[in-house]
Amino acid sequence: KRVVNKMSKKRILTGDRPTGRLHIGHYFGSIKTRLKLQENDEYEPFILIADVQALTDNFNNPEKVRKNVRELAIDYLSCGIDPNKTTIYIQSMIPETAELTVFYSNLVTIARLQRNPTVKTEIAQKKELFGESVTYGFLGYPVSQAADITCFDGELIPVGEDQLPLIEQCREIVRKFNSIYGKDVLKEPKEVLSGQARIKGLDGNEKMGKSLGNAIYLSDSPEEITKKVMGAVTDPGRIKKDDLGNPDICMVAYYHKLFTKEDDYKKVCEECRAGKRGCVACKKELAKNIIDTLEPIREKRKYYEAHPEEVDKVLIEGTKKAREVAKETMKKVKKAMMLNYFEN
Ligand code: SF4
Repeated sequence: KRVVNKMSKKRILTGDRPTGRLHIGHYFGSIKTRLKLQENDEYEPFILIADVQALTDNFNNPEKVRKNVRELAIDYLSCGIDPNKTTIYIQSMIPETAELTVFYSNLVTIARLQRNPTVKTEIAQKKELFGESVTYGFLGYPVSQAADITCFDGELIPVGEDQLPLIEQCREIVRKFNSIYGKDVLKEPKEVLSGQARIKGLDGNEKMGKSLGNAIYLSDSPEEITKKVMGAVTDPGRIKKDDLGNPDICMVAYYHKLFTKEDDYKKVCEECRAGKRGCVACKKELAKNIIDTLEPIREKRKYYEAHPEEVDKVLIEGTKKAREVAKETMKKVKKAMMLNYFEN
């Protein structure tokens, strides 16, 4: 095995907002990538549980955010994220990032934030919460995200296409900071496109999500999974078993592709097209495959639910480690900004 000097490892930062449990869309979209990354000696992965960011649009529901911090940590550990390889930490327990956000807020204009395409889309989706006037905190979340990334010298940030404007905004802040306060104080992050297609919902919606009611959660019981799969959208043209079907427009076939062995998946499609497969049996087979695939995750989840002290220990130690890194960055930042009073 190749030995890589720890100092030369690239820090790689990913994160989630603690607003709900993880579903299979997250599993195929980001968890699998993280599991691969933690096995690569070239990287030092950090996972941020972004509770401060979650509060920007859940400020009126702190219980939800608090509860989901631990839920998220349990999901990570159940999926195989190994705290010896990946540092999991809580955003609000790193006050340095809040401090850095304040310094960065001088380097970004309100007009620039309003033009950020990701923010624009999200504000439009949150009309119900914000009405006609968005909060300062929500508009400014790309600034605090830039602080999260740079506080950890996050060099590589795995993102989906829709997140690219946020990384660009972070790079702009870094360039501006370095041009005013000193060359190369901060590192510019690079994005790595995760390349994973977004997993569609059971109803065929492009997005899987809690608010859409179309998700299968990693923590769902076998009964819940079966119930959800039985309600999935199929080829509407099929009424009887011998009607010729089209698996290309059926969500059951779509999930078979993810959860069923390749040869069996081919058989599903062939039999469907030939009118030799009943939708009920097809759904039952899929439900069983999903239940079997998620079984080890569910088992581990049971263990961590019964041992909350182990989950807390992972979070406390991860946050402690992350904070050490953040403190080092703040020292550099304060020195560059001439805020290092009373230091020799
Ligand atoms: Fe979908 Fe299976 Fe029914 Fe074909 S047989 S339409 S793949 S559920």
